[in-house]
Amino acid sequence: SVSAHDLVVVYRTARGTVRALNHSSLVVEGGGTVAIMGPSGCGKSTLLGLLAGLARPTSGTVTIGGTEISSLNEKARIRFRRENLGMVYQQDNLMPHLTVEENVGLQLAIARPGQHPDGDVHALLEHLGLAVLGDRLPDQLSGGQRQRAAIARAVIHRPAVILADEPTGSLDPDNAERAIDTLIDSQRAIGATLVLVTHDPTVAARADRIIALEQPALNDAATDAD
Ligand code: ADP
Ligand code: ADP
Repeated sequence: SVSAHDLVVVYRTARGTVRALNHSSLVVEGGGTVAIMGPSGCGKSTLLGLLAGLARPTSGTVTIGGTEISSLNEKARIRFRRENLGMVYQQDNLMPHLTVEENVGLQLAIARPGQHPDGDVHALLEHLGLAVLGDRLPDQLSGGQRQRAAIARAVIHRPAVILADEPTGSLDPDNAERAIDTLIDSQRAIGATLVLVTHDPTVAARADRIIALEQPALNDAATDAD
């Protein structure tokens, strides 16, 4: 499960402070899917970054599968992220000089060092209908294929939680549908919890639940937080 409790994030800027999250909370049960929507600037990326352990909140807690990641130091958060999270972004971020199979295999080697990855990688690519593309480099794939390869890479180590930030944001509607199919199929196959940020109502409708994140009440440009 994923839970965020009473999150506040205040950024310091040259002109003062900006409140990106103002007492936001969220609970997603294990194996569940939730889509987060809301206008630009309402704090979606900030929230996802906290769930990913990329930053710590100003106050509040983030707990993933019983571990309170918001209280871990940076080294422990990096380790937790590597083993327990799968990340999908708007851009595929595949390594350009590695094939699809090598990209996915590298992720498995990083998350689960000491395992023999070859069989698992091939089985997953077969399962997702990507096996015929395994030997290709990213620039030999279409945008939709690249994003599905990126999803394979995000799930190969069977993470407890998949975080996706606008995973269909650069795809046309047909490819967006195939990508979200791949994402949800993978999430179910491994029993992961999925948190998805999207602007696309069709994509959001595929989640069990949609959360509309509100704009923080004020961006307190002149106040000094602490
Ligand atoms: P969204 O993803 O919903 O567009 P963000 O989380 O990116 O929203 O941003 C929320 C608010 O925090 C915005 O007002 C944004 O300008 C501000 N913000 C985001 N990141 C920073 C930062 N590193 N420094 C200062 N302000 C930031
Ligand atoms: P089978 O049912 O023949 O074992 P599947 O086609 O269901 O094969 O899956 C092939 C392999 O890939 C299996 O080992 C399965 O556990 C694994 N697998 C399927 N989906 C995923 C996924 N999203 N992430 C990781 N492994 C997966």
